[in-house]
Amino acid sequence: MRYHVTVLGSEGVRVVMESALTARDRVGVQDFVLLENYTSEAAFIDNLRKRFKENLIYTYIGSVLVSVNPYKELDIYSRQNMERYRGVSFYEISPHIFAVSDNAYRSMRTERRDQCILISGESGAGKTEASKKILQYYAVTCPASERVQMVKDRLLQSNPVLEAFGNAKTLRNDNSSRFGKYMDVQFDFKGAPVGGHILNYLLEKSRVVHQNHGERNFHIFYQLIEGGEDDLLRRLGLERNPQQYQYLVKVSEREDDQRGCVCLTVTPPPQGNCPKVSSINDRNDWKVVRKALSIIGFSEEEVEELLNIIASVLHLGNIQFEEEDSGSTAVTTKAQIKYLGRLVSPLNLEQAASARDALSKAVYGRTFTWLVNKINASLAYKDEVYPTSRSAAVIGLLDIYGFEVFQHNSFEQFCINYCNEKLQQLFIELTLKSEQEEYESEGITWEPVQYFNNKIICDLVEEKFKGIISILDEECLRPGDASDITFLEKLEDTVGGHPHFVTHKLADGRVRKVLGRDEFRLLHYAGEVNYSVNGFLDKNNDLLFRNLKEVMCQSENRILTQCFEREELTDKKRPETTATQFKNSLTKLMEILISKEPSYIRCIKPNDAKQSGSRFDEVLIRHQVKYLGLMENLRVRRAGFAYRRRYEAFLQRYKPLCPETWPNWPGQLADGVSTLVNHLGYKPEEFKLGRSKIFIRFPKTLFATEDALEGK
Ligand code: ADP
Ligand code: MG
Repeated sequence: MRYHVTVLGSEGVRVVMESALTARDRVGVQDFVLLENYTSEAAFIDNLRKRFKENLIYTYIGSVLVSVNPYKELDIYSRQNMERYRGVSFYEISPHIFAVSDNAYRSMRTERRDQCILISGESGAGKTEASKKILQYYAVTCPASERVQMVKDRLLQSNPVLEAFGNAKTLRNDNSSRFGKYMDVQFDFKGAPVGGHILNYLLEKSRVVHQNHGERNFHIFYQLIEGGEDDLLRRLGLERNPQQYQYLVKVSEREDDQRGCVCLTVTPPPQGNCPKVSSINDRNDWKVVRKALSIIGFSEEEVEELLNIIASVLHLGNIQFEEEDSGSTAVTTKAQIKYLGRLVSPLNLEQAASARDALSKAVYGRTFTWLVNKINASLAYKDEVYPTSRSAAVIGLLDIYGFEVFQHNSFEQFCINYCNEKLQQLFIELTLKSEQEEYESEGITWEPVQYFNNKIICDLVEEKFKGIISILDEECLRPGDASDITFLEKLEDTVGGHPHFVTHKLADGRVRKVLGRDEFRLLHYAGEVNYSVNGFLDKNNDLLFRNLKEVMCQSENRILTQCFEREELTDKKRPETTATQFKNSLTKLMEILISKEPSYIRCIKPNDAKQSGSRFDEVLIRHQVKYLGLMENLRVRRAGFAYRRRYEAFLQRYKPLCPETWPNWPGQLADGVSTLVNHLGYKPEEFKLGRSKIFIRFPKTLFATEDALEGK
């Protein structure tokens, strides 16, 4: 990534230099590339801690922004602060998410290149808050007309709606996004936001039918029950009591959702269900969501139909079955029986319950997709003068789950970690590419950087015919005795020898005890993860009984008929499996991202207790620094030169240190800098002079120069 510093006022330079360099004992360095000991993880974390203690939650690694969740409102997002960051160069002012937002915006405007901002980090680290801050920044600082104002409002209001339907309280985050999101904000030639488009990834549908101890279902269920008007609830046949609904009180038996190497400090309550959460006000949120729905342009009828579906899912969850003498199953509850009439078929109890749950998941999942489409239609860019024209440029925001490692990892973690491998690959490629481009444009010889290319792991997962997903799909298609275990056996046969794949079987026939017989381990770029194959086939197939689909197609609810189209019933082609769908959508996402100029935000959470203040849990943070690949990132960034600065800025700051450059250098800037550094005694290996910038290899050279200035 290139950051053009066009004009630098001496004021600006002083601000950055002072906070970055002179106060470094107290607040550390504001760019990790200035760490003397840049390969030391301890030094890295120490710098992060020093800054966090001073409420300085943002630090750079070059142009990557590292952010630590403060878990409290900081007074740094005000309108005045937005103004401070407008049009100011990246390094002139303390690190901030607004600097990244503004920089992307300006690059888009001046270079006419699409931008994207990739936000990553584990659950609760602050990704979604970051993406909202960026949107708010554009909403406030970009030019607006009346129509643009409407788009801005809709863009902002899409958040509470998507969060109501796609977020839930988990142990890690009271407002955890249970889907991945990529949002394009479209701008016109004047730089005003004129439209938007959202792509969603892999909603965690299983949450509809069960939740772990201390977690909740999607917010919308509680919002509706707590906040819905009496009339509405009566029409929907709902009672104002979450305890009435199996899907809101039922708890999964699995207690596997615990982080592998780090102790969770949150102790789950003995009772699983937790409809009330102190940080959440469902009744208020209901009002916000209702208002947002109308701002986005939902009609009253559409809202009613949407809520009808939400209510039906709750009713569906309350349907109980009992075994008849013949061994088949009858529905014992009266409510909503007409939906499930045809389920009284030769299914045993367990099958009937799982068919019911599959229906609930399908209905909820498809309704969510419908909702995203509906929001997209409302955000769609329409040029009244040139109806066919595209917007001038876009800034994409990616808010997607980070690397996940739990004690028990399943299909979902497999997909999520695969996604992170892809993003890491993109990151490495683009970071190296942009470094290389900068060297080239400055006329400096490129020095190759050693790095781990994780393409080998991506291939292991996604390669045609031979990759894990292909093998999984094959087992899903195979009639007969296919099972999770036969899938594992196929994996052993096919990728058993791969350097990044391990099972309990050792090459000499002995058994590796650390792995279960139902597990495989992938050696990811960020570390090892053991996956249990249990449930892989079912989750990948994601099948719904045909007769249930038929019932849905006949529904009078217009949203449902859009979600379940008749063609699906006559379509002979097998629907794509979950993993293949995900793989294809990731491939598309990579194409989108690679065509844009990226900025990165890496989010870290300081403790697992959602606690504000100085609680900075080292073990947890080390874990995240590793999974975010930050040390590798820093190494690549430092492989060449720690610091680079345009000639004008450099000369402006350090000219007092040399009699020939003080008070003004009359000649070419490059000659002035050359004269200056010669006078300062820089050794040839310490720096290089490019076309417009000086490149300094070690921070100590810069610090020495800075100290000389202090002494003057
Ligand atoms: P993620 O999307 O990474 O799972 P969120 O963005 O939802 O995490 O953040 C979790 C919680 O942390 C938020 O609900 C908020 O309370 C707090 N938080 C995150 N970022 C900030 C921030 N910049 N300032 C204040 N609080 C924050
Ligand atoms: Mg989130």
